[in-house]
Formats: sequence, structure tokens, C-alpha cells
Amino acid sequence: MAGSMKNNKYQTFIGLEVHIHLLTESKVFCGCPNVFGSEPNINVCPVCMGYPGVLPSLNGEAVRKAYQVAMALNCHLNEKAVFERKNYFYPDMPKNYQISQFEFPFGINGYFELELADGSRRKIRIHDVHLEEDAGKMIHEGSRSKLDYNRAGTPLLEIVTEPDLVTGDEAEAFVQQFRQLVRYLGVTDGNMEEGSLRCDANVSINEYGKGLGTTTEVKNLNSSKFVKKALEYEIKRQSKVINSGDKIIQETRLWDEAKSRTSSMRTKESSNDYRYFPEPDLPPYRPGADFLEDIKASLIEFPGVRKNRIIREYGLNEQQSLFVTSEKSMADFFEHTVSLKGGSDGVDKDFAGMVSSWLGGNIRKIVNDSGIPLENSYLTPQVVFSVLEMIEKDEISAGIGKKIIGIIFRDGGVPTDIVRDLGMDQISDKGEIKKIVSGIVDANPKVVDSIRNGADKQIGFLMGQVMKATSGKANPGITQKLIREKIFEEPK
Ligand code: ADP
Ligand code: MG
Ligand code: ZN
Repeated sequence: MAGSMKNNKYQTFIGLEVHIHLLTESKVFCGCPNVFGSEPNINVCPVCMGYPGVLPSLNGEAVRKAYQVAMALNCHLNEKAVFERKNYFYPDMPKNYQISQFEFPFGINGYFELELADGSRRKIRIHDVHLEEDAGKMIHEGSRSKLDYNRAGTPLLEIVTEPDLVTGDEAEAFVQQFRQLVRYLGVTDGNMEEGSLRCDANVSINEYGKGLGTTTEVKNLNSSKFVKKALEYEIKRQSKVINSGDKIIQETRLWDEAKSRTSSMRTKESSNDYRYFPEPDLPPYRPGADFLEDIKASLIEFPGVRKNRIIREYGLNEQQSLFVTSEKSMADFFEHTVSLKGGSDGVDKDFAGMVSSWLGGNIRKIVNDSGIPLENSYLTPQVVFSVLEMIEKDEISAGIGKKIIGIIFRDGGVPTDIVRDLGMDQISDKGEIKKIVSGIVDANPKVVDSIRNGADKQIGFLMGQVMKATSGKANPGITQKLIREKIFEEPK
């Protein structure tokens, strides 16, 4: 097993509890808006504030998204799922209980195929997938605490793994790959800064072959990097404790990023402490056959599968395909752009390669420099298709193409109009280009000599000089031809 590191004295066991905020319009048991960033305490009603006598009603969209995840994680779906009350007093939970699922969650006994650093895959078992409501938010200011109940009652899906992960690196990779999957599914935005994806990390160590040790849990990690760092810290801390002859106390700990350490928060409660019992105001949920068929049909192709198909169908290499499938929106953009070119004889692999290198190169740079995500820009597959086609047909140079894409990205517009309006029209006049080529060739005798001696690639250098002299407007095909003529056909 990767990471078990036999040179290490102890075997490590890591299990994660990942919470994701589901993207729904309203909260999970009432009609309040489920949005982030509102003014405090405006998205509340008697139901989510726990007034006496109110009744919860289950949000169908949250259920649908929960089942999409359970199915994507290959879970067995309980015929009858039961909501239960998890009783505890917390100031951010006005009802003094949380509606969750315990004995019969939506999904159990699934697995997630984790891609490891060496490219191999290992199944990480999923204990269960259950739906619950989130608590409100406490804001601590000095000696006072403020409460914002906007988040109370928003739909939270919890995914619990078995303790199958063995290193901090693996746990980090799990969070990253799982996040990619649920973003692909469109069930959450996975925004870790806003707390849309949070993680509790459980870890124990033990001598080899002795099975699970006593676990500690690090709560509320909101970055995959912190998951890794907190676990690596805990593994070291636990080894030290055991080496010194002491015992690990089962407890809940917190990660302090500033100090790069965990500290004890409380001894861990066991499920008995919560006095779970079935929620009397909600009937058990029995998913119908049609509903499940529908969910199944809605499941999109997963990132890893799509990456491999794109390598096969479009002739991209592993790295290119990894990049274009990093986000669903990017993969859709790529395939859409290439399809606009498609003739009757299938995919144009050269064009696909060109699209991929533009997405990963010039376009990525525009996205990074502007800070605007591709899907929020004016750039569409149609625009990229027509610009790249103009480049392919030598109607414009790559440099001009880049400028056009940059302009449309920010301001919108039609490529051919921009070419005309900005006077980017190509210089195709042979006489005019010939004059410039002559000047460049004469000014670079050493380069010309090396080309004559076989360094054909150096022609690219001269092309670049001509483009520079013409602000990228010289027709590349004609230019190249004239350079060759000048070097190889004219007498020295
Ligand atoms: P609960 O939160 O109800 O106490 P468990 O403790 O059974 O549930 O499991 C919570 C998480 O802790 C799971 O992800 C599980 O894989 C992990 N876990 C449980 N026992 C251990 C252990 N001994 N070592 C490491 N991880 C563990
Ligand atoms: Mg727990
Ligand atoms: Zn409400």
C-alpha cells in the first residue's frame, strides 16, 4: 500500500468526514433563501429558528443532489432512509437538535477511486452519505460572541470515509479529487473559503498488524492543505506520545494555522451522548424506482473517465487532457470548440491540439491576468473557433489572434469586425512583404548562414522579426515563402 512506509514504526489510519453545502434555492426544511453573504439574520423564519409547533418540510432539490452524490460514490441506497434528531445544545442551533440521518442514511457502503501520485488508483471505502442541516455561525469578538442564523438549516451533505487513507498527502488528494467530482456534478460550488466544503480528519496509529489505534479528530478544516498539515502534525504527535509510553486520548482537536499545530478542544462525544431518535415530524424517505432512474440518467461523465476519453478521441496527451478536464466548464468549452470544426470524418485532431494549447496557454494567461473566470467572460467557443480558424487559414497571425481574443474576453465582439475596425487586416501584398523580408534577411547574415547549413528552425526567428516589424500583420504563409525564396533562391 502506498504510503504505509514500512520504515515507519507505525501503521497509519485516516478517515475523513467531508461536509458539502448543497446548491439549492432554499434551506433544507423551510423556504428561507440558501445564499451566502447576506446581511446577518435576514434569511430566517419560525421553522429554522426552532419556534414551537412548526413543521419541517423536506427540500426535493437537496434530496436529488444528495442521491446524485451517493450514486456517484457507488453507494448502496437504503430502501428506507430515516431522518433523526441529533440532540445537543449549541447557541448556533436554536432548536437544540439537528435533523440528520443516523441508522438509515441515503447511501452506505460505497467507494471513491482515488488517483494516487504514481497514477495508480485505489478504492477508498465510503461508510455513508447522509443529509443534514447546518448550524448558524458564531462570530467571536473579544469577550463577546455574535450569532448569525442565516446558515442555520441550510442543506449539508456529509460524506464519511472508512479509515482507508494512510498519509496526509493521500488525504489532501482525496479532498481535491472529491471536490472536483462534486463540482462536476454541480451539487456544490465547493468554495472552501466560504465554508462550502469542510472536513473533519480522523487519525490513529498503531503497530503494524494490530489494527486501528485510538483516534483523534481534527475538526473543521477548510482547506485541503490544512487537512494534510494537520494530519501530518497529528501523526508525529501521536508517535511521540506512544513512544514515551503514554496513551492517546480520544479527543477532538483544532488546527491552529498560525502556530502550525493542533490543540485539544474537548474529549470526544460518542453517539450515545446525542440521544438520536427518529424525527417524528418527517416520514421515512423511500426513493422511487423512477426517481432513481432519473438520477442515474443525470449522472455526468466523471473527471477521470472524461480525461481518458479525451485522450483517446482528440489525441491530446495526458497533461493536456488533465488540464482541459480540470473543471467541467473547461472540458465543455474545449469539446464545444472542437466540435464546431468537426467535418463528416470526425474529430480534427490537429485542431483539437491547437484548441487545447490555446486554452492552456494564451487563454489561461488572459484568465489569470484578469482574474475573471472563463465562464464569466465574453469568450465563447464560437469566438475561439473562428479566431483559431483564421489563424489556421493564415488570414491572421497568432499574435493578432491573441489580441482579438484578449479584447473579446473583456469587451465582447465579433472577430471579423475587430480585425476590420482595428486595422488588423493582413498585409498580403507580396511586394510590401518582400521589402520587409529583404531588410530582415540582410540584417541577420549569421542566422541566414546557419539556415543555409541546415538549421531550418531558425526561419522561425526571421518570421518573428517580420511580424515584429509589421505588428503581426504580415501574412504568415506568404512571409515564410518569401523568406525561403530570399535565402535559397536568390544569389548571395
Ligand atoms: P462518529 O463520528 O459517529 O464517532 P466514527 O468515529 O465511527 O463515527 O467515524 C468517524 C470517522 O473516523 C470516519 O471517517 C472513520 O473512518 C474514522 N475513524 C474511526 N475510527 C478510526 C480509527 N481508529 N482511526 C482512524 N480513523 C478512524
Ligand atoms: Mg464525527
Ligand atoms: Zn427558515
